Amino acid sequence: MKKGIHPEYYEAVVHCACGNTFTTGSTKKELRVEICSKCHPFFTGRQKFAERGGRVEKFKKKYGIED
Ligand SMILES: [Zn+2]
Repeated sequence: MKKGIHPEYYEAVVHCACGNTFTTGSTKKELRVEICSKCHPFFTGRQKFAERGGRVEKFKKKYGIED
């Protein structure tokens, strides 16, 4: 079996660290990523940051920001 000329192309299952899985075209059957479109701040925007209420409160206290 010759390898390297035409790599086999799979529909790879991508496992993200956040628990999300999705498929993408790849020469590998399975991929693991740290971040995906569901959990990346670029895609989720400020919404996720806002959900982390505790952190925001600490930030406000640290810099003396009042609500
Ligand atoms: Zn993710």
